[in-house]
Amino acid sequence: MREMILLKQGEMVLKGLNRRGFEEKMMGNAKRRLKKYGSFKVYTRQSTTYVEPQDENCDLEGAWQAMEKLFGVVGLSRARACPKDKDAIVACAREYLGDKLRAAKSFKVESKRADKSFPMTSIQLSQYVGGELHDAFPHLTVDVHRPELTVHVEVRDYEAFVHADPEEGAGGLPVGMGGRALSLLSGGIDSPVASWMIAKRGVIVDMIHFYSYPYTSPEAKEKVLDLARLLVPYIGKTCVHVVPFTRIQEELRRSCPEELFTILMRRFMMRIACAVAEKNGIQALVTGESVGQVASQTLEAMACTNAVCTLPVLRPVVGMDKEEIVRISRKIGTFETSILPYEDCCTVFTPKHPKTRPQLADLEEAEQALDVDGLVAEAVAGIERVMLEL
Ligand code: ATP
Ligand code: MG
Repeated sequence: MREMILLKQGEMVLKGLNRRGFEEKMMGNAKRRLKKYGSFKVYTRQSTTYVEPQDENCDLEGAWQAMEKLFGVVGLSRARACPKDKDAIVACAREYLGDKLRAAKSFKVESKRADKSFPMTSIQLSQYVGGELHDAFPHLTVDVHRPELTVHVEVRDYEAFVHADPEEGAGGLPVGMGGRALSLLSGGIDSPVASWMIAKRGVIVDMIHFYSYPYTSPEAKEKVLDLARLLVPYIGKTCVHVVPFTRIQEELRRSCPEELFTILMRRFMMRIACAVAEKNGIQALVTGESVGQVASQTLEAMACTNAVCTLPVLRPVVGMDKEEIVRISRKIGTFETSILPYEDCCTVFTPKHPKTRPQLADLEEAEQALDVDGLVAEAVAGIERVMLEL
């Protein structure tokens, strides 16, 4: 018996005239993710996208896991196909949803007919299938308002499908509909979550990481690439720009007041990120900053880092507590890697008493001692690009 996956579209169904574009993008993203699991047909009818295996060799479990991470999908269910006959539908539901029917206390049947020549109305079909299932599973009660289990029957052009309630999907909008952003990815907990949140809104996300070899180890850099790899099933193909940052940090240590070190360093990160973004047609930056979390994340500090940015800086976790960020990080699978104990370039040379309320004028004065443009250009010239694919 043929089994397939149904994807329920999220808020993109509200897109009016643009909706077709969102659907096309989501189907393209689905097809790219499905490639390694075999040959699948992907098509959309009435805000449901059907993922149909084309032969016996398809890995439906692999495909399911890939579709759970597809932005644009609010719910997904597995469905089984059967002939368009009322008793074939009952037999299919009994067998396919048997475990669920045995486990539930209450249920109802909901039918949809795309094929209007089917000899029963939707209501008649629901009543018939519901009656037969009730006979087969007499412990069940029928509850049309708040059933524990809803058995869905869809009569389509060539066959019928039976499935249970959808499971929760990744939500959001299809990646590729919202432009392109560059995310400052550290090895911490927050920035992978921030990157994921922006991609969820349909934005293509590239990454930039600053490393300070030999103060930070090659393993620390590998950890960041691992974090980016963990995000790929959600965000799709991405480019990680790996920036050598040692020279800048050494210059800052040599020439600038210690209590301004962190914020000066962050201004350099922003300048370099903006330069990379502009060179690559990228429209915004993303960081994992959250108000008040550390000294460099006060409003004053953010104003001082923004002052060198020519692009909007998106901070999706800005209002979230650490606990909320951790929860997402566990859900998306980055937490365990984030907490591996490798040093980040921010923790090298951290001042004992960083200024929490830096003044822009003090920073600008400190930077007088440096060849800012030259240091930025040198760092940009040393960038290594790592492409990560699905
Ligand atoms: P995270 O958990 O994301 O590391 P954090 O709480 O450690 O954040 P900071 O170290 O102050 O905070 O960094 C704030 C933000 O600056 C990070 O979320 C990230 O976007 C960016 N950032 C910090 N260090 C780096 C780095 N080495 N490379 C790229 N971006 C960085
Ligand atoms: Mg960090």
